[in-house]
Amino acid sequence: MIGIFGGTFDPIHYGHLRSALEVKEIFGLTELRLVPSAQPPHREQPAATAPMRLQMLELAIKNQPGFIIDTRELNRHGASYMVDTLKSLRQEFQNEPLLLFIGSDAFNQLETWHQWRHLFDNAHIIVMTRPGFNIQNLDKFFKVRLTNEITELAHKLAGKLYFQQVTQLDISATAIRNMIDKQQNPGFLLPDTVITYIRQHKLYQRH
Ligand code: ATP
Repeated sequence: MIGIFGGTFDPIHYGHLRSALEVKEIFGLTELRLVPSAQPPHREQPAATAPMRLQMLELAIKNQPGFIIDTRELNRHGASYMVDTLKSLRQEFQNEPLLLFIGSDAFNQLETWHQWRHLFDNAHIIVMTRPGFNIQNLDKFFKVRLTNEITELAHKLAGKLYFQQVTQLDISATAIRNMIDKQQNPGFLLPDTVITYIRQHKLYQRH
């Protein structure tokens, strides 16, 4: 099974990295592909350029076996839609289950994603939740796809919905950018190599 973890990664931090590592182990993924988004359709444009976000990703996952940076959204023109990314991955990996990992905040907004129902054509969706996350009020579209068997994910290529609790680290890239802007130390929220890169390139200093 191949995992897909999309994001702006502006910058990547331990919230992303810890959950990526946990799901890689829990699902026994052959690889976890971090997919930096080019022009996020849902939100304001990233503060750091795409090549810079990419370099920070590279620094963060150095020596992390099975972690791969997948640049297909950066290489594509126009808006990055996950539905297109999954189609393109499916062409490349025709016989491997694809697992798209999203945070519960992203899942709550899934219905605003471009062609969101078609995400399930080419991947399973795994929602990374915090303890106490309530799945009682799921729409029928989701309920019929719900499974709690990892083996079912392994035996089908796509189409299932699964909720996985992961360790919650209350870290966000927004908070890190604001801290740097206020000249506070973001130490222990993201790798030191990434902090050094941010300092060297004077990123996220708006004032
Ligand atoms: P920003 O603060 O700029 O919105 P972010 O920190 O939320 O950024 P993104 O790049 O937007 O990071 O997130 C990519 C993915 O990582 C999303 O699926 C999001 O739900 C998940 N994610 C973000 N922060 C965490 C965290 N602390 N723990 C686990 N997953 C996270």
